[in-house]
Amino acid sequence: MPKTHEMYKVDKSGSINRTKKSCPRCEKGTFMAEHFDRFACGRCGYTEFKRRAK
Ligand SMILES: [Zn+2]
Repeated sequence: MPKTHEMYKVDKSGSINRTKKSCPRCEKGTFMAEHFDRFACGRCGYTEFKRRAK
């Protein structure tokens, strides 16, 4: 699985296509770090699991 180094991509029309999940608690543009089983925000600590672990 390739690592995503680009936070987002800007196409020719200028719109931003987010390639990462953004935090629902923080302001727009705050991206969450993706882990193997969850997304975690380093800013507020919000964690969202991709699926139930148990
Ligand atoms: Zn956050």
